[in-house]
Amino acid sequence: MSTSRPRPSFPAKLGKTAATAATSASIVSATSSKKILKPAATRLGKTEVPVRAEGLGLDSQVVRHKMVLKLQEQGITDPRVILAMGRIERHRFLDSALVNQAYEDTSLPIGYGQTISKPGVVSRMMELLLQAPSMLKKPSTQGQAKLGRILEIGTGCGYQAALLGQIASEVYSMERVRGLHDKARENLRPLSLPNVHLLLGDGMVGYPKGAPYAAIISAAGGDALPQAWLDQLALYGRLVAPMVAHGTQQALLVVDHTPQGFVHTVLEAVHFVPLKSGLA
Ligand code: SAH
Repeated sequence: MSTSRPRPSFPAKLGKTAATAATSASIVSATSSKKILKPAATRLGKTEVPVRAEGLGLDSQVVRHKMVLKLQEQGITDPRVILAMGRIERHRFLDSALVNQAYEDTSLPIGYGQTISKPGVVSRMMELLLQAPSMLKKPSTQGQAKLGRILEIGTGCGYQAALLGQIASEVYSMERVRGLHDKARENLRPLSLPNVHLLLGDGMVGYPKGAPYAAIISAAGGDALPQAWLDQLALYGRLVAPMVAHGTQQALLVVDHTPQGFVHTVLEAVHFVPLKSGLA
């Protein structure tokens, strides 16, 4: 790529007023209260003691490690994704009756007819985001650099938002169901992630005040790509979303914003909950 080409302008700074002012979406910091999360391992001299998921006899660190090994067997290689998947405790985002299944590669109900996505698909999508043209322009930092600002459509219980917070400088995550938006806020509070911002609003219109985004990711699948997402994607940015590709079958869609225009790539079949307009 020519060195004379102007560098992309993201992560663009979001002014204080833009970050706090709410338009159609109301914004909440996921971390407004004080830190109460225990560290993943408590050091006792030289011994690391894994934290146990309360009341279940589940050694969460060990089962999470097994999950990460399986993800690697499935082809996930990016160290940033592997680190994030090992760090964020999925069982904390689930109702107690489902905690035993937290580290299986399966989607699970989170209420309101919605689901937490499969770890395999979540890590695949994060890996795709990290291969955005903006990241490939910086070969010296490959495998280490964080993405700029990300827009996530479909907060759900907040699991993926927490993961994205590990691989990006800022995360704006939108949810249309108030009950889930509130649940995600509760789930994320103890993690104290100051760069993860939750928005109650219709993700189909995006969040223009945070634009342009280095990456946009949707956890809900529609029939067509909302124009707002393309409008809000930075040059050299990447969008990853499930979309109906052939008939009724959903597939992962990747859209890269290049100087020549938007380049669309359709990947493997996936199954996500539907993208719906308006607030619920
Ligand atoms: N990110 C979640 C997955 C949640 S499922 C995880 O970590 O596993 C997808 C979510 O998208 C649902 O909660 C659904 O309510 C939400 N959704 C669907 N259409 C939406 C829209 N237009 N705007 C915002 N959220 C939407």
